[in-house]
Amino acid sequence: MIIDAHCHLGKGFDIRVSPEELLKEMDKNGVEKAIICPVDRFIAVYNKEGNDYIMDCVKKFSDRFIGFATVNPWYGEKGISESKRCLDKGMKGLKLHSFLQGFLLNDKLVFPLLEEMEKYDLPVYFHTGTLVSSEPYQLRDLAEKFPKINFIMGHSATTDYWNDVIPAAKGIDNIYFDTSLHNPAMIKSIIDKIGADKVIFGSDFPQNSLDVEIEKIKIACLDEKEQEKIFHKNIEELVK
Ligand SMILES: [Zn+2]
Repeated sequence: MIIDAHCHLGKGFDIRVSPEELLKEMDKNGVEKAIICPVDRFIAVYNKEGNDYIMDCVKKFSDRFIGFATVNPWYGEKGISESKRCLDKGMKGLKLHSFLQGFLLNDKLVFPLLEEMEKYDLPVYFHTGTLVSSEPYQLRDLAEKFPKINFIMGHSATTDYWNDVIPAAKGIDNIYFDTSLHNPAMIKSIIDKIGADKVIFGSDFPQNSLDVEIEKIKIACLDEKEQEKIFHKNIEELVK
């Protein structure tokens, strides 16, 4: 069984992709379920519209999709109530993108939103890998400040910070690694040094194709039990 833990849907400025297109890709590649979240402008500005679209897709294909909401922390109280609205309606996590949303990953601006997230036993996915705004050590800082939250390190800091990934997460229990965009050698080294328990398969569709992203896991990890954890068990644990 394969769950793709990171996909985007919607008509954005740059990215345009429909649920049917993703489902076609999933069927072609034996992917049973996908976690979906909004695209570009809906992540940056029009959060409510983006979240509503994702919730509609989940409603329409409830056996295939799991929704993650997004909220720009600059919206303050309004953003917090938007996150509550979505999570109370059944969305299973939060996707934050400090580069697109215009803040430093560990800035105190995001604390009130994370304090709210502490009340839910659901993960927070952070884009990482972009210079200055989205670094692995900034995520470590948040993971230490909010030990009750499980954080997913988006793209495991590819491409600019792949060297920091392992040292930044050493000894930290609440950081998980998304495999999208990473190369098989790096995925293997995360598995070897941190463990398959912390690695989660994601494609970042439509920016990457599912077949290549799946193949990378099979190259990086030959152990079937570990593959099962990466392909579905770890994420299932986080969103149950
Ligand atoms: Zn993404």
